[in-house]
Amino acid sequence: MPPGRYTRLVRLDAIGEAGHNRIASSHAVIVGCGALGTVVAELLARSGVGHLTLLDRDFVDLTNLHRQFLFDESDAAEGIPKAVAAERRLRAINSEIEITSVVDDLRPRRVADLLGRPDVIIDGTDNFEARFLLNDYAVEQGIPWIYGAAVGTYGIAMPVLPDRTACFRCVFDGPPEGLQPTCETAGVLGPVTALIGSLQAGVALQILSGNTDAVRDTITTVDLWHGPLREVSKPERDPDCPCCGHREFEWLNGKHDTPVSLCGRNAVQIHSERGVIDLAALKTRLELEGTVRSNDFALRFALAPHEITVFRDGRAIVHGTQDPAVARGLYAKWIGS
Ligand SMILES: [Zn+2]
Repeated sequence: MPPGRYTRLVRLDAIGEAGHNRIASSHAVIVGCGALGTVVAELLARSGVGHLTLLDRDFVDLTNLHRQFLFDESDAAEGIPKAVAAERRLRAINSEIEITSVVDDLRPRRVADLLGRPDVIIDGTDNFEARFLLNDYAVEQGIPWIYGAAVGTYGIAMPVLPDRTACFRCVFDGPPEGLQPTCETAGVLGPVTALIGSLQAGVALQILSGNTDAVRDTITTVDLWHGPLREVSKPERDPDCPCCGHREFEWLNGKHDTPVSLCGRNAVQIHSERGVIDLAALKTRLELEGTVRSNDFALRFALAPHEITVFRDGRAIVHGTQDPAVARGLYAKWIGS
């Protein structure tokens, strides 16, 4: 009999047959299928994680391709949602595992529905608001999650093990004041996102194989251009932490929720409560006004200097502005209020 596909993984002393059986019966949720999320997803799929859920709110764009795995030029040309494109590619890589793709945005009211009760959650998001929300949900439910971020040539990763390690809120009070550098404004080096994604995937495999005790409760940072990988500190749990100390889940309870949010690259995301949109009817109407491209998942309406991408659930991303009022006005005018 030829060696099985996981032979080289099972051979690791720390994993073995028993560890891999645990991996094969586990569920990991990856929130955000960008530069970090796609690296994590590919590594976990190849390792045979039994069920992967991929959640992402955006679609593949040509500017993603220099660092985001799993996607190619045809995905960008067709504007396929990242979660859907990632699922397609992962199915070709490993047909033996269950893969669920979800095109949606992580918002307080929907977190439990979207994330469920997985064995681990991996952060592939690009903003602090989503991370505070993830942290609230994970701490409340007692689910381990793994923070990761990268911009420029710098990256950072930290595991959060509820009741054992500091949580995200013990370390960060709240979203930083003022405009932070983003991959759009500061650029980003592909190897650094691949490195941080690999660190996250490594911790995920420790947890999923039953080796949670081996997880190092440190913050790891790296500047891949200027310095070495460092474990900068072992964060202490803050007994006065609102989240893991007092169990006040402000982000989960929607205290900081907004219907409009900036989402990088000169774009504003708008949430709508209007429900499912008939994209075919919208396409017929908008074709009279500007350029429309659509697929099964979304419609893109270009009217220079703006472009509006509308998803079936009514959510939209308005490109070409950072002003929420302008975005809301364009949404009301073209899509409806
Ligand atoms: Zn805490």
